[in-house]
Amino acid sequence: MLPKSIQTAIDALSDLPGIGSRSAERLVFSLLRNQTGLSDRLADSLGKLSESVRECQACHNYCESELCPICQSSREHKRICVVESPIDVLAIEKTHEFKGRYHVLHGVISPMNKVSPDDLRIASLLQRLQASSETEEVILAMSGNVEGEATALYLTDQIHRLTNIKVSRLARGIPSGGDLDYLDVGTLSRALIDRGEV
Ligand SMILES: [Zn+2]
Repeated sequence: MLPKSIQTAIDALSDLPGIGSRSAERLVFSLLRNQTGLSDRLADSLGKLSESVRECQACHNYCESELCPICQSSREHKRICVVESPIDVLAIEKTHEFKGRYHVLHGVISPMNKVSPDDLRIASLLQRLQASSETEEVILAMSGNVEGEATALYLTDQIHRLTNIKVSRLARGIPSGGDLDYLDVGTLSRALIDRGEV
């Protein structure tokens, strides 16, 4: 029988995606052995996440002020790249191919998981596009699975209905069901450069 505090830590870590109970056990025992105060540093930094991190008021990326650094920057307003999650912003930034701005949906439309368009940051995207006179192109960078496809179709329809802004999608080459952050930089760069209007 493990001491309760150890078991609680193992249980909490096993709730993370990709961490099974064996890995969680190894992590906790490694933290207990560690002499550098790592568990305190972890507890401190993780504890501050929910109080410090919020969504950018314009693009919904994670940040610590009202607007994220990209929205505060002088990057071009001509293009907005729509992604599912903040981690996709990181992936696209690594390509250095995109000089525009982002909009983070925080998920995809999924009837199976009871996620409807109202649960995502779609209304604010449409408002943003309608209010902007500078946006010329919206690049949809959803993943290639069924839900990503459905979300892209829904957005294309809504954007065409409400604005004259060109809508394009990343080129094929994105593996079906593959999240953007699993792609290597070269493949993602190519998908961006070869994007096509829809
Ligand atoms: Zn922002």
